[in-house]
Amino acid sequence: MKMFIDGKRVNASDNATTNILNSATQELVDTVPTSTKEDVDRAILAAQAGKKVWAATPQHARSAVLVKCADAIAANVEELARLLSTEMGKIITEARGEVACTAEIFRGFAEMANHLYGQTMSHAQTGSETDIIFTRHEPLGVVACITPFNYPVELCYHKVAAALAVGNAAIIKPASDNPLTIMRMLELCWEAGVPGNVLQLVTGSGAKIGRWLTESPLIDKISLTGSTEVGIEVAELGAKTLKHLGLELGGNDPFVVFEDADMELAISEAVSGRLKNAGQTCCSPKRFIVQRSVLEAFTTGVIEALKKLKLGSPLDEETELGSLINVRAQEDVKKQVAHTIAQGAACIYGGNPYDQTYFEPTVLTGVTKDMDIAKDLEVFGPIFPIIAFDTFEEAMEIANNTIYGLQAGVMTQDFSKAIQAAAEINCGAVVVNGSGNYRNIDQPFGGTKMSGLGREGVSCTLEDMTQVKSYVLKNILVKK
Ligand code: NAD
Repeated sequence: MKMFIDGKRVNASDNATTNILNSATQELVDTVPTSTKEDVDRAILAAQAGKKVWAATPQHARSAVLVKCADAIAANVEELARLLSTEMGKIITEARGEVACTAEIFRGFAEMANHLYGQTMSHAQTGSETDIIFTRHEPLGVVACITPFNYPVELCYHKVAAALAVGNAAIIKPASDNPLTIMRMLELCWEAGVPGNVLQLVTGSGAKIGRWLTESPLIDKISLTGSTEVGIEVAELGAKTLKHLGLELGGNDPFVVFEDADMELAISEAVSGRLKNAGQTCCSPKRFIVQRSVLEAFTTGVIEALKKLKLGSPLDEETELGSLINVRAQEDVKKQVAHTIAQGAACIYGGNPYDQTYFEPTVLTGVTKDMDIAKDLEVFGPIFPIIAFDTFEEAMEIANNTIYGLQAGVMTQDFSKAIQAAAEINCGAVVVNGSGNYRNIDQPFGGTKMSGLGREGVSCTLEDMTQVKSYVLKNILVKK
């Protein structure tokens, strides 16, 4: 597939390409251009014209185009979902859900933008009686959307739809492993009426393109979802041109199971939360913090559930656990499991990579609170490290003993205990009687500490994609 610059489908200026592989089989699916700096600069320049055209387009017209984008995506769910499943190993049933959710995101932002109001100030300050001050939300200009591999289309278009809804131009830099579904969706958006210099996309090396976009004075905001390491690099570099920043970063989310929890529910939430997307979800439960009196029941229940899982090809309707994104991801998980065992944990179920990119669901017991996996080691795979606790205070100490603070899950039938735990866990959202692997398009999603800066959701992103301007009508109320 070609990339999308200034209304045209183009190759890289030096014709270099990158291979896109089927995650599960490692067969070649397609190639995409490897952008040069010249290509990226061309997109940035085109966006300068695009941002003016789009900002001058009335709100109702912009929103109408976004609704057409949503309709086009919804009408092509099957084609898009198969492509997504192929290029990332996500099981087909989840891929359909992600594509359908992306259509809802477009609709949500289109509706919300129609009703994003400014304010009129009161005359509280002495001497202001004859003035009228009102505010408007105006676009930032050009937003670069740098996006991760794990929910590629949903997370990309959360940024893009919000940026476009309020009159910005957007340039997408998708993850290098799986840009194809995002690219096909962009084609649908162009066909639906988004101008070719308002929405563009460049493919290639994250480190290079990310740097070129971030250091450009002609880009107004970087909206990045990705690892904490890359987030810090972008924040440091972006500071030189005082970029607006939105950073949705890594997590090592706790899942706390108290002894009075509904154990069947706790087990099913743990398993479904951890295994969704083969464990490659920022907010999946990654540390299972379980009260010692129910440790045995929880561990046995999880293993029993894992034994019933259907592993297999992501495109098979019956498959419940697909592949990881690439060979390197499999190697990383293998090393992280080995590291945790070397620190003293026991692997009592699974523990092995298989084929080229799959990993067995794995249960690690005897994990203690001082091990890396119990603190800051984010594992992107179907791994269940189980950590025992005795008291409420100890559970909270373990849950908070991490640099991350994305989401959390708390299982208990004591509502007061649940709310107390939710108040004590330092993170962006706590799910009561469910795993933290939860996202609603309206929710202000995001993390505390090293999990990021800002929140994303239909309820809040439009504010972050605009700047407020005050219009002061001085002495307008003076009688002549
Ligand atoms: P990543 O950080 O490797 O890549 C993210 C994006 O940044 C990609 O497009 C990549 O090409 C680009 N990139 C790489 N180096 C860059 C640089 N130096 N400058 C600018 N851009 C650069 O992340 P990933 O492996 O694609 O995704 C997994 C990570 O993302 C995990 O840590 C996960 O927790 C996090 N994540 C967070 C959220 C959230 O909402 N908080 C959601 C999904 C994923």
